Amino acid sequence: MLQPKMTFLGAAGTVTGSATLIEYQKLKVLVDCGMFQGPKKIREQNFSLYDKQLASSIDAVILTHAHIDHSGLLPKIYQLGFRGKIYSTQATFDLCKVMLPDSAYLQEEDAKRYHSSDKSRHPLYTVDDANACLGLFEVIHRKQWFEIAPGFGFQYFRAGHILGSSFVQISIQTGNGVRLVSFSGDLGNGRQYMIKSPEDLPETDDLVLESTYGDRLQDRNPPHQKIKQLVSEICASGGALVIPAFAVGRTQEILHILRELEQNGDIPSIPVFLDSPMALEATDIYLSDNDDLKLEVKEGKLIPPLSPSNFQRVRKMEDSIRLTHTKGPLIIISAAGMLTGGRILYHLKTRLAEARNIVLFVGYQAEDTKGRLLQSGLRTIRIHKEQIHVKAKVESIDSLSAHADSDDLVEWVSRINKPPKRVILNHGEPKALNALCYRLRYELDLDVIIAKQNESYNL
Ligand SMILES: [Zn+2]
Repeated sequence: MLQPKMTFLGAAGTVTGSATLIEYQKLKVLVDCGMFQGPKKIREQNFSLYDKQLASSIDAVILTHAHIDHSGLLPKIYQLGFRGKIYSTQATFDLCKVMLPDSAYLQEEDAKRYHSSDKSRHPLYTVDDANACLGLFEVIHRKQWFEIAPGFGFQYFRAGHILGSSFVQISIQTGNGVRLVSFSGDLGNGRQYMIKSPEDLPETDDLVLESTYGDRLQDRNPPHQKIKQLVSEICASGGALVIPAFAVGRTQEILHILRELEQNGDIPSIPVFLDSPMALEATDIYLSDNDDLKLEVKEGKLIPPLSPSNFQRVRKMEDSIRLTHTKGPLIIISAAGMLTGGRILYHLKTRLAEARNIVLFVGYQAEDTKGRLLQSGLRTIRIHKEQIHVKAKVESIDSLSAHADSDDLVEWVSRINKPPKRVILNHGEPKALNALCYRLRYELDLDVIIAKQNESYNL
């Protein structure tokens, strides 16, 4: 019998491009198939990571959740010849139906905009690739073993990160008996306003653990007070509060909090624009799924309702352009959350130059993204080849994170009945990986290693 092994194709020493290949006899299974995001050097891997031979040899993908850094290269491997199954929960599938074609559309636009001089440069993939790969999905319910091939099965558990997000336990029949390998995917923290807490992980031999916040603790104070204060500032100045948010997860949490503040009389009713067609569709999916939600869904409506009273949906591009010059006070929520592209850049281009406006970051900003640069105090920023002098106030709230922080991760691991034989850390930047590695070794006495890209580990 061949020794089963796993190889980290992405999210090793970095927070994007999640993809781990498991080889078991002739079977090749990917856990996640994420896109690399951030600086060009990292993004280039989206074009080079898979070739036709590798893509067409993959039998199945087990998807942990819909975020693009975990799902975004599914259309790419489809384009290269992958025709296996993609397993996911129902909500992850519903979100992918919106997110993958949207991601493809952005790729096509990018190719037109930036590579018009270089005709040889095709988009990473097309909307057709994205739509076609949706036909390969098969929905798997949580807590049910599903056998992909004799001797190789898996089950999902709630990860509490976004709607549908799950951690995965894989069971592999080896020469020495059954080996259990678990992947945390992205893990939630139980402090979110809409999404339930992660479930406990059952006993496992190997644990592949995300480390995004491995070196940090999030503010445990609710974000309401700070949001109330920022809203009152823009009401006084007539400015705009611009919130870059991930279309799925954070956007819905922010709307929920604004609604709550308004209902309690903490903020006045001012226009709240959601300028992201994808976020609008994702919001509708949130209204139809109650499995992961702390809120109640009655006849297709959330109780209490999700949106503030003066909530305005912006779908058309011309309305989005008009909004960049609309007078305040107003709140604009738009994607992408780390300013890696999308409509948010047009809003920032006009709003950053005025002192009365406020930009509020509510999620993790990866290294070298425009979001991280702005957040760390850069006063001149380049958007669409234009230099913008930052006069607006830049604020951050990290208590809205959808990720577990360092304490949450250590606690989650410590709750496993029997310590795992080996913990492999991925999905983190070097500082976070090292800190979490240290804590797990010395606080929980575990055998911990940090995943290296393209390195294989026997199972
Ligand atoms: Zn995620």
